[in-house]
Amino acid sequence: MMNGENVDAPRISVRGLHKWFGDLHVLRGIDMDVVRSEVVTVIGASGSGKSTFLRCLNFLEHAQKGIISVDGEPVPDSERARNALRARLGMVFQHFNLFPHMTVLGNVIEGPTQVLGRSRKEAEEVGRAYLAKVGLSDKEQAWPSQLSGGQKQRVAIARALAMEPEAILFDEPTSALDPELVGEVLSVMRELADEGMTMVVVTHEMGFAREVADTVHFMDQGVVVESGEPQALFTEPTQARTREFLGQIL
Ligand code: ADP
Ligand code: MG
Repeated sequence: MMNGENVDAPRISVRGLHKWFGDLHVLRGIDMDVVRSEVVTVIGASGSGKSTFLRCLNFLEHAQKGIISVDGEPVPDSERARNALRARLGMVFQHFNLFPHMTVLGNVIEGPTQVLGRSRKEAEEVGRAYLAKVGLSDKEQAWPSQLSGGQKQRVAIARALAMEPEAILFDEPTSALDPELVGEVLSVMRELADEGMTMVVVTHEMGFAREVADTVHFMDQGVVVESGEPQALFTEPTQARTREFLGQIL
């Protein structure tokens, strides 16, 4: 084992995760494994705890109970370990969260220069390659305010990729987009999936879940009610709560 990496272990493993906001028990014992190159989607009604779960995975929120392991190593309960881990897991948010006072390229090189200690030149080279990958080479000097929502989200994906993460967590990446812009973002995500990126995607895009996900997890009231391959989960859900949810949205 080098650098504590265990290639046989799940990339991300979650056991018994609980999160309270004051008295509100939002995550009530989540278990989940995400193996290398797996694309996992998490579906569920608004308020079921999906965003909180992703934020706990990335240590943007502190789960009071449970274990999160990355490559077989439980993440220790220290600020230093959490910061290091955060740099290894990319995050893409519903509302893009670009730095408004930085150009597109500035957004993409910020993490590599500030967190990974790359030289500006090296970070720009890598950053330009990822902007090309998401189809935005011509926008590197633009400001976020000059971009469409679909372009902003593609910048956010390039920014996550520039950190060369071990997995990317997406929180409803297309929910804030006009319908005609959803496709360009999903097609970038699909390409990443095809290339073997490990992805956890909270989404209401059932088409994407059906076509791209290896595993779908249905969350309700802070627990994973049912998990399975998309075909099975969508056509033959075993749990009444899953059937009810799918009945409302499909
Ligand atoms: P989802 O993403 O599935 O819609 P969330 O994870 O955003 O669900 O929210 C789950 C529950 O936790 C909701 O009841 C929400 O109001 C509550 N919640 C989320 N974030 C906070 C917070 N920072 N403080 C207090 N309650 C929160
Ligand atoms: Mg949410």
